[in-house]
Amino acid sequence: MAAIWWIRRDLRLIDNQALEEALKMGTSVVPIFILDPFFQKSSYVGSKRWQFLYHGLQLLRQDLEELGSRLILRSGLPETILLNLVKEVGATAVFAEEDYSPYARKRDAQLQSILPLTLVSGLTYHHPTDVLKKDGTPYTVFTPYKRRWLERPLPRRNHLASIPSQLPSCPNIASEAIPSHSPLSYFPAGEAEAQQRLDTFRDNLMKRYGSLRDYPGTVGTSGLSPYLRFGMLSSREAIVTAVETRAKAKSETAVESVQTWLDELIWREFYQSIIYHFPHVTKGSFRPVYDKIQWRNDPAEFEAWCQGQTGYPIVDAAMRQLSQTGWMHNRARMIVASFLVKDLLIDWRWGEKWFMQQLVDGDPAANNGGWQWAAGTGTDAAPYFRIFNPVSQSKKFDPEGKYIREFVPELNGYPDKEIHSPELTPPLLQKRYGATIGQDYPHPIVNHKEARLRTLDAYKTAKEAVAPE
Ligand SMILES: Cc1cc2nc3c(=O)[nH]c(=O)nc-3n(C[C@H](O)[C@H](O)[C@H](O)COP(=O)(O)OP(=O)(O)OC[C@H]3O[C@@H](n4cnc5c(N)ncnc54)[C@H](O)[C@@H]3O)c2cc1C
Repeated sequence: MAAIWWIRRDLRLIDNQALEEALKMGTSVVPIFILDPFFQKSSYVGSKRWQFLYHGLQLLRQDLEELGSRLILRSGLPETILLNLVKEVGATAVFAEEDYSPYARKRDAQLQSILPLTLVSGLTYHHPTDVLKKDGTPYTVFTPYKRRWLERPLPRRNHLASIPSQLPSCPNIASEAIPSHSPLSYFPAGEAEAQQRLDTFRDNLMKRYGSLRDYPGTVGTSGLSPYLRFGMLSSREAIVTAVETRAKAKSETAVESVQTWLDELIWREFYQSIIYHFPHVTKGSFRPVYDKIQWRNDPAEFEAWCQGQTGYPIVDAAMRQLSQTGWMHNRARMIVASFLVKDLLIDWRWGEKWFMQQLVDGDPAANNGGWQWAAGTGTDAAPYFRIFNPVSQSKKFDPEGKYIREFVPELNGYPDKEIHSPELTPPLLQKRYGATIGQDYPHPIVNHKEARLRTLDAYKTAKEAVAPE
């Protein structure tokens, strides 16, 4: 009997529940990845994520071959490809890890009506329908969601799916070549890399995460997001590792740090739950009142933001980190998102899309959640009147300008105190420091104090338009 393992966001052999189910069912297992034209045409997927995916597929193909199997790659509509494949190999079952995006859910529901497709858990540890309020409705605020999440049983290492030491052979059927690609220097793909990052983070940083995680100029986070995004690491294994490390931690600070990291993994599950229960968030604000905001949407200012040329060094460092590496530190993501929405009054969906085009870890749920949080339009949003001051954020979280110096090298000669707002330095000194503002580095494109008031007004007007006070 043949079973098909349809790989989507689970490019791994370790702790793969869909593969485990396929192995239970089939004497022969056909691993397939489908290049769906929906994603190939999407303006939300940029080249870095494609490179990462192709590299991941190439490594998975090698790993499968070492275990006696193969990876079949085919391009086309999932429905056509799978119907043909089922006939071609005589498969009686198709297994895939369940995905929660609106596109995936609609596609899978349609496919289940014509194919023996079984969806298996794995994208999150707890399924979105398993963490609900007492009345059976979904949570919309993180803290009570987290409390409920933590009340449920935690995973242990012996709960992880077994790692196959050998795989049944896959029939000798046609497969396309993996598109040519160049591995990303900052994020080499693959399970081995993900495992190594997890080990290094566990051994060196997890117990200090609480004090390190907010400083973009310091390596203080795991850098695992692209691997969790494509399932090169299972979220369950990441959670098990946190739980084990917390149990072994010797100081209160270490315990709290590991707990903080676990909280981030729970944030990840929270946003997956939001997109599952409230799919309208992918189109507009979680709270529709905020769809009434009159955005300025100035294209030149948007371009300056994308290119890291706003005249706010911390914002520019972050935006350049994004375009150069395909990743941005979480603190920096919050700062640049707040700047786009609250200082430039540009629709958060413009920023959401740019992030999706640039990020290797671009994920519809986490990205949407992050943007709506920053814009104050989302579930558990910071109230809209709390507006980040980019200069204070810069002084607090990049006090020596390490991050700025790395990505905005033209400001390297500025002293720590002046690097956060170089336009305030007298022109003669600017020259001495090696960057004249307006010539070598732009003047700030907006005055933060004025922009803040403009934004408060726009949000208030939108709210009053719906419910006059
Ligand atoms: C505007 C904005 C957009 C974002 N877009 C994305 C995105 O597209 N994809 C993405 O994975 N994360 C996104 N995040 C969340 C967060 O910035 C990244 O997950 C984190 O920076 C990844 O780095 P890390 O792996 O070193 O994280 P760590 O600090 O080591 O955290 C461990 C893991 O927890 C998850 N995580 C951490 N913080 C969050 C969070 N706030 N929300 C959801 N999951 C989280 C990630 O999977 C991460 O790999 C966004 C945040 C903001 C504010």
